[in-house]
Amino acid sequence: MNAPLPKAPINWIAVFALVFLPIVAVIAIPLYAYHHDFSLGAWISLFVLLGMSSLGITAGYHRLWAHRAYEATLPLKIILMIMGTFAVQNSILFWASGHRTHHRHVDDVEKDPYSINNGFWYAHIGWMLRNYPAAEANYKNAPDLLNDKVVMFQDKYYIPLVIAVHAVILTTVGWAVGDMWGVVLLGGLLRLILSHHVTFFINSLCHMWGKRPYTDENTARDNFVLAIATWGEGYHNYHHIFQYDYRNGVKWWQYDPTKWLIWSCSKVGLAKNLRRIPSFNIKKAELAMRFKYAEQDLAVYGHNVNEDMATAKLRIAQEYEAFTQTLNDWAKLKEQEIQAKKASVAEKIHQIDSKLKVDFQLVEQRLVHHRDTLKILMRNIKKNPVSE
Ligand SMILES: [Zn+2]
Ligand SMILES: [Zn+2]
Repeated sequence: MNAPLPKAPINWIAVFALVFLPIVAVIAIPLYAYHHDFSLGAWISLFVLLGMSSLGITAGYHRLWAHRAYEATLPLKIILMIMGTFAVQNSILFWASGHRTHHRHVDDVEKDPYSINNGFWYAHIGWMLRNYPAAEANYKNAPDLLNDKVVMFQDKYYIPLVIAVHAVILTTVGWAVGDMWGVVLLGGLLRLILSHHVTFFINSLCHMWGKRPYTDENTARDNFVLAIATWGEGYHNYHHIFQYDYRNGVKWWQYDPTKWLIWSCSKVGLAKNLRRIPSFNIKKAELAMRFKYAEQDLAVYGHNVNEDMATAKLRIAQEYEAFTQTLNDWAKLKEQEIQAKKASVAEKIHQIDSKLKVDFQLVEQRLVHHRDTLKILMRNIKKNPVSE
């Protein structure tokens, strides 16, 4: 275990929001339920407002402002700013700048503001309760945000905005469903606590629990269960290797409501330039990891003298060679593309571009083929592990 963190001064505002409010909730909500009962409308407000504040963080604070994974029109920015303010996780500027530091120095006990290597508690909530140097505001990594009018407006008027957003939303919803106190307690208080911990899980559990299909160079994990809880942010291993992709659940079937929201916004003209990592790069990362895992499995089982195992070993070695060849082909294609652009002869560029497209598809098909072969090989090894 690492050396214990040096004590830092307590952040009393954070203690109020993250410790005091949950204590109030634990006492007030059961008491109110005992004496009055909550209306159905109040329960619905809990889920709707939880979605609203969480998506403000995931689609707004995280994917728009921290990563610039897409561009948003002014009306969408304002809506996301209001939704994110309702989540009470400090200003966009502070949040997004700190998050960029997290990506840059992930897992570093001193530089990552919420490094999991300082333990679950620290990564989940502890880093906010004291003013640790790693989480200190430093906006050197956010010149774009310093020039963003919506971001700077919110940063300047953050506390009045938090109060105003809560007052307007909670009184409007409370009045609409005819259960003001029910909405304040469930849609206001309980929703805020849940929405806090949902986000915090991304920094804690998403760096501990799950699979690493794309990279094992950091602790980030892909986890379907956490994706459900976190509005799609649970595919954190993918996110840490390709942070500029507007999708975290990159496969079409992966549960990522944030990605669907951004995509839908682009369809109605509220968002544009959604950034996607080329599928070739994604497959390349995935396949490289598969080979790595295959090697690790072989290291465990491979010392047994067994005919099947020897064949499997040989096949994997051959597959790996083919994979390397495929990557070389791809590098050549890329070089051609660059040369074509340098030559800046329109017709030539067009010719090479279309050739590139076809070649690229072929290379991609070969990668898929390697992946499938590898899958079968690994299944066989796992089915017939040879014991000594
Ligand atoms: Zn992370
Ligand atoms: Zn991120």
